[in-house]
Amino acid sequence: MTDVLIVGAGPAGLLLASELRLAGVDTVVIERHPERPGFCRGFNLNARALDLLARRGLAGRLIGEGWQVPHAAFGGLPVTLSLPGTRTDHPYSLGIPQTRVEEVLEAHALDLGADLRRGHELRSLRQDADSVTATVAASGGQYQIRAAYLAGCDGGRSTVRKQAGIDFPGSDADRYSLLGDVELADPQTLPLGTTTGPGGTVFAIPRPGYVRLITADREPPADKDTPVSLDLLQTAVDAALGRHVELRAARWLTRFGDAARQAAEYVRGRVILAGDAAHIHPPAGAIGVNVALDDAFNLGWKLAATVLGTAPAGLLASYHAERHPAGARVLANTRAQALLAGAGDRLAPLTDLLTRVASHPAGNRGFTETITGLDTRYDMFPGTAHPWLGRLAPNLALSVGTGGTDLATLLARGRGVLLDLADDGDLRASAAGWADRVEVATATCPAHPELRAILLRPDGHTAWLSTAADDRADGLRQALRHWHGPATV
Ligand SMILES: Cc1cc2nc3c(=O)[nH]c(=O)nc-3n(C[C@H](O)[C@H](O)[C@H](O)COP(=O)(O)OP(=O)(O)OC[C@H]3O[C@@H](n4cnc5c(N)ncnc54)[C@H](O)[C@@H]3O)c2cc1C
Repeated sequence: MTDVLIVGAGPAGLLLASELRLAGVDTVVIERHPERPGFCRGFNLNARALDLLARRGLAGRLIGEGWQVPHAAFGGLPVTLSLPGTRTDHPYSLGIPQTRVEEVLEAHALDLGADLRRGHELRSLRQDADSVTATVAASGGQYQIRAAYLAGCDGGRSTVRKQAGIDFPGSDADRYSLLGDVELADPQTLPLGTTTGPGGTVFAIPRPGYVRLITADREPPADKDTPVSLDLLQTAVDAALGRHVELRAARWLTRFGDAARQAAEYVRGRVILAGDAAHIHPPAGAIGVNVALDDAFNLGWKLAATVLGTAPAGLLASYHAERHPAGARVLANTRAQALLAGAGDRLAPLTDLLTRVASHPAGNRGFTETITGLDTRYDMFPGTAHPWLGRLAPNLALSVGTGGTDLATLLARGRGVLLDLADDGDLRASAAGWADRVEVATATCPAHPELRAILLRPDGHTAWLSTAADDRADGLRQALRHWHGPATV
């Protein structure tokens, strides 16, 4: 018996495990692969993912190792999308291998006491009113494990989703790309970047010690589960370029398509989905890892409070209410990018129009915040129109006594934070009944003298806010009850 069984040790499963352990929830993670993969899928963390990871002290180490790219692109529009000036503390995309991100997340989860079992594969599950029982295959045998909740972080072909009977509506892929991490026998024969030949386009992306080749826009294969061979990739590359470019030493060969599907329910009873298990989408914008982390961050504190019995009614359901629309927006924008990228002349008027919009500073910012999720805003209480309400609050620099700190540091323990910026004893007294769930910090914020107080959820989103011009102290207790349950004193 454990509190939470997580299936899958990808980015979603590992971050969720850390978040649950931070709250003291017993957590077992099963991962079917006995070893970490020898290949790397993704190579970036976006601005929002960095903002979120920074709220747990996890961004700094990765930023120190990666490279910063202050711009992005949208579906092949001939406009650079600019990160500086958008609502983020990290106005860039960080180039870093997904494998390295997973290593850091895994080490963090293990440090916090997660029980990670590699080489253990979920075969089936059944749930009743009180628990979920999973059948797990490991070391040639099988065992059963019971959990109060089970989180399916097991990727796009999720066994958890299928076993729980959760619908996965959407569209199948109708275009495929081949991908090969290979060496070029003669690096002079193919430039890095995009090369278009008589038969199609080949993208060559430099990677440490090898090159990632992607051949775009192929018809669906007769059997999409047939492994991709070096011969197949070689034939596709040569056909696209209309000449022979010799490939060798394949490290990883695969294909991916533009399927777009989303789970109808992120929470069904005691079974919850996060990451690719909950949504798959065209690869445009390289966002899968980032959305998986976003899901896990939203879910972690809510599931922990539910397990610990402190959650108000509806808290776990708010995971679906907040992240399903966010996932739908990811599907919409990646599908739009895929359409534009493959449109040719037919959509030229639309491309021209969008190019004009994206060339305008406000339009440029709108595109950038949409594709990175920086526009994410969850519904909070009505009452104040402050632009931070429902959003990730910026990482404010704070003065405390003679020292300094910041919002991200205050959030590192994974609890809610009430920031009293006006040394207001009445306000602090209002929150006393939630002291076991919400930390109260009295500080000053030189950059925002107009702010009197902010209530942050454990995921850093602004739940309530009061300014000198808009004193809303009356709503504080309501917001505390809404997100953290009744007061204990
Ligand atoms: C070629 C390629 C390039 C990509 N590039 C990028 C990029 O640049 N940036 C980006 O953000 N995203 C990128 N992505 C997407 C990204 O890799 C995924 O979106 C991300 O890994 C999803 O994380 P996850 O934790 O939800 O699932 P996964 O990372 O897929 O993890 C799921 C885990 O569950 C395990 N599992 C599955 N079934 C079971 C079972 N029954 N029992 C136990 N364990 C199980 C799997 O072995 C796996 O380890 C790319 C994807 C591909 C294919």
